[in-house]
This record gives sequence, C-alpha cells and structure tokens, in this order.
Amino acid sequence: MFANSKRPIRWGMVGGGRGSQIGTIHRNAALRDSVFELVAGAFDINPERGRAFGADLRLDPDRVYPDYKTMLEAESARSDGIEAVSVATPNNTHHEITKLALEHGIHVVCEKPLCFTVREAEELQSLSRSKNLVVGVTYGYAGHQLIEQARAMVRNGDLGEIRVVNLAFAHGFHSDAVEEKNPATKWRVDPEFAGPSYVLGDVGTHPLYLAEAILPHMKIKRLMCVRQSFVKSRAPLEDNAITLMEYDNGAIANVWSSAINAGSMHGQKVRIVGSKASIEWWDEQPNQLRYEVQGESVRILERGMGYLYPEALVDDRIGGGHPEGLFEAWANLYRRFAFKMTGDHGLAPDGIEDLIFPDVDAGLEGVRWVENCVRSADAGGVWVDYWKT
Ligand code: NAD
Repeated sequence: MFANSKRPIRWGMVGGGRGSQIGTIHRNAALRDSVFELVAGAFDINPERGRAFGADLRLDPDRVYPDYKTMLEAESARSDGIEAVSVATPNNTHHEITKLALEHGIHVVCEKPLCFTVREAEELQSLSRSKNLVVGVTYGYAGHQLIEQARAMVRNGDLGEIRVVNLAFAHGFHSDAVEEKNPATKWRVDPEFAGPSYVLGDVGTHPLYLAEAILPHMKIKRLMCVRQSFVKSRAPLEDNAITLMEYDNGAIANVWSSAINAGSMHGQKVRIVGSKASIEWWDEQPNQLRYEVQGESVRILERGMGYLYPEALVDDRIGGGHPEGLFEAWANLYRRFAFKMTGDHGLAPDGIEDLIFPDVDAGLEGVRWVENCVRSADAGGVWVDYWKT
C-alpha cells in the first residue's frame, strides 16, 4: 500500500551492529515499505566487526566505513551519497553524530534520548530548522495507528475536557543487577554513557511523547519528581522514578518510569481521562484501545476496523484481526519520516498530510523533561517551573 513512493531514500546507519538491541528494528522498519534503501553504514564501535556485518547485509564494501566521521565525509562527497542516516548508538554519542550529519546536509533519525542537555537539543533544533532537514526521534510506539485514533478522538471532543493523564513505562527486566553480566545494560547505568538519568530517559520519555502526540494542545506548566536506585550500585542513576505534572489547562498527570517493576514485561500504558469519557492503551495488547464512556459499557476499539477515524486507518497494512505491534508502529514512523524528508505524496494520501511523528522538538522535549525531573528529584522532590531550566 505504501510502496508507491517515487524512489527509496538512500540511507545509512551508525551503530545498530550485530547483536545490538535496536539495530534490527530500525532496519525492519525502514525497509518494510521500500521507502528507504540501506546503502552505507558504520555499524560498530569495532571497525572489523562493522565491516563483517556490512558484508552480511550485502552492502558494497566501499560503503561500509570504520567510523561515522569517515562515512559522513565520504558519502556527502558522492553524487549518489546517503540522504538520511539513523543513529543507533549509546546515548553519549547522539549529539555529536546528529550534529555532524546535519552539518553535512543529511537528514537524521536519532535514537532517544536525543542528547543530554536542553542546550544541546536546542542547538540540534536550530540546525535542523536552518538547514531544513528532518530530525526524527524513535519513540517507536508513537507510530501505532491506535495512537492516531486516540489523537483524533481527543481532537474531535469524544472525551470532553481532559482532566487526568496516567502514563507508565515500567518493566521488570532490571529488578536485579543484570548489568554485571550484560554490556548493553552496563552502559545504561553509567552516567558517562547514559547521561543524567537512566529510566527517565530510557523509558519515561516514550509515554511522555505519546501524551504529546495525543494531547498536542496541552503544555506542561510545572513538574515534581522523585527517583530511586533500588539496585544501589546504579546510583546516582535511578532505576525507578515517579513524576507529577501540571498542565496549562489545569489537567494533572503522573508518569511511572521503571526498570524494577518485577514481573512486568513492558508496562507501557497511557490512560487519558476526560470529562465525558476515558481511553486507555497498553503496548502489550496494542490492537485494542479501551473507550469508556461514563455510564455506558466499555467499548474496545480494534485496530484496522472501518469505524476508526481515517487518520488511524491510513496506517493499516494488514487489516483487522491479525496481530500487529512494534514493527508496524516503527514502520509507520519511518514512512512518516520519509514523507517529511521528500514531500513525496505517494507516502501520504491526499488530505492526510498532517501525520505527526516525533521530530527534533519532541527530542528536545524529552531532554527538557528529564532535566526538570532530575532537578526536582535531586532537590528533594519539589515542584519546579517546567520552563526555567
Ligand atoms: P547496544 O549496546 O545493544 O548496541 C549499540 C551498537 O552501537 C553496537 O553495535 C555498538 O558496536 C555500536 N556503537 C557504539 N558506539 C559506536 C560508534 N561510535 N560508532 C558506530 N557504532 C557504535 O545498544 P542498544 O540497546 O541497541 O541501544 C542503542 C540506542 O538505542 C540507545 O540510545 C538506546 O537508548 C536506544 N534504544 C531505543 C529503543 C526504542 O524503543 N526506541 C529501544 C532500545 C534502545
């Protein structure tokens, strides 16, 4: 359905090498609709491993590079060089790679968190604007069609006035010190690589963006956060945090960010409570959106069904009933990134051009939120003005 774009975008990757957690997901999402074509990469911190991995991906060996600086230099000098690059490396490298790619005139899809400080994020935002280049951020579940449905329901007043927002991303996989044996977890609890937070940036920013996508008219006014390191060796980084937020329309929200929610598989949930009705979505059962109208029996809205709003149905590849989830959502995001990069109307049907995706502003917002949460928590869990960082 979506493979009718004019031609694929020439695309490269930094990181996401063999054995990485997220590299395969980027490739599956970007390549799914033939909207991107992988032509180059600097896949690994170890150049030899990176080269071998590029060969396995059947890439031209001349375009598998030992490091990202060499890749950006060489590719921007070619007439058929990459037009977009995805950054799937540990957090401490995101800012410098994204900045350099933008300076070379290349669109970027960057992993979250976009960078470590609001100042760095604002720099990327202004570079992206002045160069007219897209920076997409992979809050992957934001591509799910039922998130579009939730956004359309709020916009059309189906819930009434929004009062309460319940957000959580609370899994249990790091209930004990798994980092002692797992390198992919080890860097996540080291401030040098992970930045000023662990779970706030690693998981909390995902539902934060879902709320931004569903409730674009609401802005955070102030927040209060407490954070804990239940596995003591992780201090000063937290493995659990609770944030309270007040919005400018009087609504209140809480966000539970956690890696120690023992027994929980993923635990990303969003519940929006309005004056007339509530909706609830859980990423472990992504095909269903609960719609609860006060005084009526619960309705379960199923993905892919004709009664959804058109904005949601645009994202459907496989029809109702079949299971769908992470890859579909990520592929929708990559298609939206591509539409924004090219303006190619084969990628967005007429009348539905306003498809949202996490862009550089969303990346900046995640960084701002983490900075505020850390400031609040480290001052003893006090209210802080959201805009005075
Ligand atoms: P990982 O440790 O499993 O893999 C990192 C990969 O990057 C490895 O292949 C490593 O060799 C490579 N690498 C490291 N430094 C590099 C450099 N300078 N140049 C080239 N390659 C380099 O990490 P991961 O779990 O895949 O996480 C990577 C990023 O993705 C992190 O920022 C993480 O927060 C993010 N992530 C996002 C999601 C999501 O849902 N969006 C999920 C998991 C991870």
